[in-house]
Amino acid sequence: MPRKLFVLSLDGTPYTLLKDALERLPNLKKLFAQGTFVQMDSVIPTISSVAWATFATGVNPAQHNIFGFVDLDPHRRFVIPNARDLGACPLWQRFSKLGLRSIWINLPIAYPPDSINGIMISGFLCTQLDEGVYPPELLPLLHELKYIIDADPQRAQTDPDGFLEELFLALEGRRQLTWYLLEREPWDFFLLHIMETDRLHHFFWEAKDEPHHPYHQDFWRFYRELDSFIGELVARLPQDCELVLLSDHGFCEITYEVELNVFLRERGFLRFANGTPADFSELHPESRAFGLIPGRIYLLENSERTRAELITALSALTDPQGRAVIARIYHREEIYSGSQLARAPDLIAVPHNGFDLKARLSAQKLFIKTHLQGMHTFDDAFLFVRNHRLIPQPKPRLIDLAPTLYTLVGLRIPDEFEGRSLL
Ligand SMILES: [Zn+2]
Repeated sequence: MPRKLFVLSLDGTPYTLLKDALERLPNLKKLFAQGTFVQMDSVIPTISSVAWATFATGVNPAQHNIFGFVDLDPHRRFVIPNARDLGACPLWQRFSKLGLRSIWINLPIAYPPDSINGIMISGFLCTQLDEGVYPPELLPLLHELKYIIDADPQRAQTDPDGFLEELFLALEGRRQLTWYLLEREPWDFFLLHIMETDRLHHFFWEAKDEPHHPYHQDFWRFYRELDSFIGELVARLPQDCELVLLSDHGFCEITYEVELNVFLRERGFLRFANGTPADFSELHPESRAFGLIPGRIYLLENSERTRAELITALSALTDPQGRAVIARIYHREEIYSGSQLARAPDLIAVPHNGFDLKARLSAQKLFIKTHLQGMHTFDDAFLFVRNHRLIPQPKPRLIDLAPTLYTLVGLRIPDEFEGRSLL
C-alpha cells in the first residue's frame, strides 16, 4: 500500500510573503523547519483554473484543455470551463482506479464532483453547494457546519467588512469539515484547498505592508488564524502521513489594469459589428484579433504580417508614466504542446508585475484602477514538503507536483505526466 498523503493548498499565497512573515506565523515556522520550503513557478497564463488543472493532471494546457477562467464556444460565446472539459485524467480518477480512497475539498477545477472512491466537495466554479458534493449524503452535514464554497467577491467592493467576515467564516467551515472527516473517514489522499488567501490578496493587498492601513490588522489576523489552523491540523494528522503545502501562484500590487481589447481596438486590430457587444460572436468582418483575460490573444487570420505587427505594438506598449507593460509574448507552440493546441490562444502576453491584463468588452479606457488591489504573479508560488529534501535545481514548477506526489507515496509515475519528480 502507498503512504498516506495530505495536501494543503493555499490559493495565491506567495513564497516571499510566507518567508518574510514566518516570525508572525509560529506554526508555519515550526513546520517549515521540518522539511523543504521553496519558491515555485506557476503556469501561463497565471490563473487558478489553469494552474489547478495542471496540478491535477500533470500535463500542460494543450493536453488538459483548460486555457483560462473563461473560454469561448465554437460560436465565440463565453463559457466557463470546468472538470467536464478536462482533456486529461485528473488525480481523483487516477487514485480511484488504483483503488485508493481520496478526499478533495474545494479545489477550483474540481467541479462538477465525480463519483470517485472517496469524497469531493467542489470549489469556486460551483455556485450551488447542492450541486458540488459527492456523495450527496454529506450535504446536511455541510449545511449544519454553515460551510460556504467561497466568499462573495462582489461584496468586496460594496461591503469590505462583510466580505472579510465571510473569509473567516469560509475558513472556519473548512476547519470544521476537515476535523469531522479526519475523525470519521478513511483516506489514502486528502486535499484541502483554501481559496480565502487569493480573495484576501485581490481585495486587501495594499493593507499588507501599511501599518496604518484600515485593514492592516485584519490582513494579518487572517494569516494568524490560518497559522493556528495549520498548527492544529499538523497535530491531528496521523504521525506517518506525508504532508505537502503549496500555492498555485504569487501576488503583487496592481499598478494598472490594462484593457487588452481597448488596445486592440485603438490599434485597428479589433472592431465589433455593433456598439455594445455581448461576446465575440459580434465581431466586424475586418477584425484581425481579440483578447481574453489574462493576455490571451486570438488571431482571426493566419497572417504572419498581423502576428508581427501585433507583437511589435504590444512590446512597445507603455503606461502613462512611460513604463513597459509587456514583459514577454509567447507563440503558443513555445509553451504548449498536445492534442488541444489548436484551441490555445495564438499569442500569450505576459505582463510586467503590476499590470493586470483584462479584456472587458465594455471597457473604454486602456489603463484603469479599480477596487482590485492585487494580481497574480508567475514566479512566486511556494512549495513545502515535510521530512524530505527536494532537488534544488532547476526551479520547481507546478507541473512537477503530480510526479512528485506519486514519488512521495510510492506509486509508479504515469508516462503521461510531463513534469519531473522533485524528490
Ligand atoms: Zn489561484
